[in-house]
Amino acid sequence: MTLRQEMERREEQMFSPFAARSAASRGRQRPEQECSLRPAFQHDRDRILYSKAFRRLKHKTQVFLAPTGDHYRTRLTHTLEVAQIARTVARALRLNEDLTEAIALGHDLGHTPFGHAGESMLNELLPGGFRHHEQSLRVVETLEKEGRGLNLTFEVRQGIAAHAKGRGPFLPRRGQEANLTLEAQLVRVADVIAYIAHDTEDAIRGGVIKRRELPEQVVKVLGARLSRQIDTMVKDLINQTLQAGGGVLAMRPEVAEAMTRLRDFLYTQVYENMEVHQDFIKASKMVRELFAVLTDPRQDALFSQYVGADPPAGKSQRQRAAADYIAGMTDRYALKMYEDVFLPRPWGRI
Ligand code: MG
Repeated sequence: MTLRQEMERREEQMFSPFAARSAASRGRQRPEQECSLRPAFQHDRDRILYSKAFRRLKHKTQVFLAPTGDHYRTRLTHTLEVAQIARTVARALRLNEDLTEAIALGHDLGHTPFGHAGESMLNELLPGGFRHHEQSLRVVETLEKEGRGLNLTFEVRQGIAAHAKGRGPFLPRRGQEANLTLEAQLVRVADVIAYIAHDTEDAIRGGVIKRRELPEQVVKVLGARLSRQIDTMVKDLINQTLQAGGGVLAMRPEVAEAMTRLRDFLYTQVYENMEVHQDFIKASKMVRELFAVLTDPRQDALFSQYVGADPPAGKSQRQRAAADYIAGMTDRYALKMYEDVFLPRPWGRI
């Protein structure tokens, strides 16, 4: 018996009946010899961690554009906080922690530079539209490793694709998500728990809102500060789910309601406020111009210089390649490319 098989056997003994088993995975995009040490989802977690797209998360906007303050979240620290919350809950519910962590670490890989400003501009420019969760799947399936992708298991890819940020319900209704692992559903809730807490803290730090402006009901039910808020939401999710039998994620209605209220508050007071912020308007314009220059048939040399390959012959293929390239950029890379392409350089020789 290999060490992997020994670990798979341990999963059988320790996991709840609702957990996804590594040995029962529906398999990878392409068949390959499984690792002798790590079960499939653990292996996937490591592949995501070592991917280039994961390292680029450190310079992508969470709420604030290319923040110079050291304590603001970026996509990377957001991702790590989501993974922490999701793993804490997974362990308490005896779910598959490796699968949970793999989905959490991969869930935002498709984010553009400049947060939603970048995303909505690409969505406008690309025929067929652009959505970051679809792009996250594209990153792991086709863009990483020079077009070969990471060859992840079905369950991790499904969990990444099922992630959608928005204002819809974050708790699954009974029976509604029958095809989705409980681990994938959990990461969706953990994402909301993480961002409503840390975006509130960052928005207060950045002077966009004041703590005393938080809705009264939110403070009463969740608490006023991040550690208390996360503690409340995480414990409630664990306790309610266990009370409901462990197979369906559940929260007390007043907690879920307070979360929805805090999220609505952030949308109106912070996210939509930032969208009309001058710097985000400028960032959208930059994305538009970078897209225009990369898709311009007279700019083949420039395309090759940056993308490192000849531009595809077809117009829509070239648009797709430009969108992939721009979506992969960090905030600072986009700023640098814009400067190099569009701004004159002072003559250096004396
Ligand atoms: Mg997220």
